[in-house]
Amino acid sequence: MKKTIASLLLALPFNIILAQSIKGTVEIDMKDGLINCSFQLNDIPPIKNYKILLNKGMNIKNFKDSDQAIVWYDGHYDGEMKGEALAYTLLDNEGKIKQLPSSFQVDYKGAFPVYFDSAEDYGPFDYKGIIAFNGKTLRAADQSKWYPVLYDVDSDKLVDKYRYEITIKVKNADNNSIFINGNAPQKTMAHQFTSAKPSTLLLFVGNYNFVSNEAGYILNLAADQKTVAAIFDNIDLIKAKLAKNLDSKFTDKIYIINHKAVNKRKPGSSWAFNDYPAFAFTDLDPAKLMDEKGQFTSEYIKFFGHELAHNYFGASMLSGKLSWFWLESFAEYLSFNVTEDAGFKDYLKEVLLRGAKYVENQNFIPLTEISEVAQINVSYRYVLAPLMLKCFEDTFGRDKTNHVLKSLLEYAKTQTLTLELFDKAVEASGIGATDFQKFKQQFIADKDFKQHIIAHIRKHYS
Ligand SMILES: [Zn+2]
Repeated sequence: MKKTIASLLLALPFNIILAQSIKGTVEIDMKDGLINCSFQLNDIPPIKNYKILLNKGMNIKNFKDSDQAIVWYDGHYDGEMKGEALAYTLLDNEGKIKQLPSSFQVDYKGAFPVYFDSAEDYGPFDYKGIIAFNGKTLRAADQSKWYPVLYDVDSDKLVDKYRYEITIKVKNADNNSIFINGNAPQKTMAHQFTSAKPSTLLLFVGNYNFVSNEAGYILNLAADQKTVAAIFDNIDLIKAKLAKNLDSKFTDKIYIINHKAVNKRKPGSSWAFNDYPAFAFTDLDPAKLMDEKGQFTSEYIKFFGHELAHNYFGASMLSGKLSWFWLESFAEYLSFNVTEDAGFKDYLKEVLLRGAKYVENQNFIPLTEISEVAQINVSYRYVLAPLMLKCFEDTFGRDKTNHVLKSLLEYAKTQTLTLELFDKAVEASGIGATDFQKFKQQFIADKDFKQHIIAHIRKHYS
């Protein structure tokens, strides 16, 4: 018996230490745009050089330690910002930065504008970092840091996924549903949600309905069962293609959220974000989504291909100066393959040629010379770099390219991706060093790399 227990213990993985967890209450007033939070964070990893990030619209009542004693903190005056958040550190009695404890409590309250869509009441912009009340729903993604997100300064990594036990209470709402990422939505005014699996805490609350099937849930979309089934069939097809390319299963239930933007947009335009396993789209129209046979149109195959690819090249890639390259360019490249594999070769050609034309008159710094995150701008991350990856695939083949991607996903579990790791992944794929150096010089490092990429795309796809 003893022996059995001992061997069982030995067989346990060494990384059994529980992931960070968050526990507490969130009160939301849908009419006035108020969010009141009381959270206890536990099992916090020992981050040496840390910041506690909280949306700039949240006012802290206090931080408390595990003995309920109030803890001093820095960042409330002349504070430093990171993205949408103010950055806080805890202080000891002498005013020095306190080591990050394994547990602390924080209470805070935030007030946010409510944009009434029906009254043509808009803001100038909308994106994933906005805490968006529109009179009907509230959308708050992880990027907004509506909940405390820990930042590891030395490794430039966010700790934003928690196991959770959160009670959400909603005021001033009709026909209310509550969704928090990783849990089934509930039609209720108050509910306790728990997740043993770490997840980002995307919130979607308000006056909406939802439908489900085995693959997951669709929230806030006016559609019949047949349309819903067809949407999930298409999603399954895309999931299967990604899983095959990357040799890694896509098994989780997914949540598709239709929501309203808080800025005025061109009719029919849509923007999307991904907080795996949730995917949010503005103004999703099933009639535009699918053709008469119930198949996603080429545009939506590619659109979902990109979003679902973030299941693999997801938020954990946002680290280091090439963050946007790893996160967006690889998702976009994978969407090319999904599009091609779904039979839309001609459409893909169009996309590639349009991309080449789009970047023709813009200037870009070679990846090897990037020194700041922002240098990989929107055109670079969504257009030029994915075209470079397509050139890579054309040169070395899909199998070897997939091999490289799989290695990168493996490396990204423990470290920040770099071009050195890309080289290592290429070597591991069996691509010859000389061949790769030639490619790298021409398509990645050369001052005329953009022209080489454009020339290649035009030659192969015109
Ligand atoms: Zn993306």
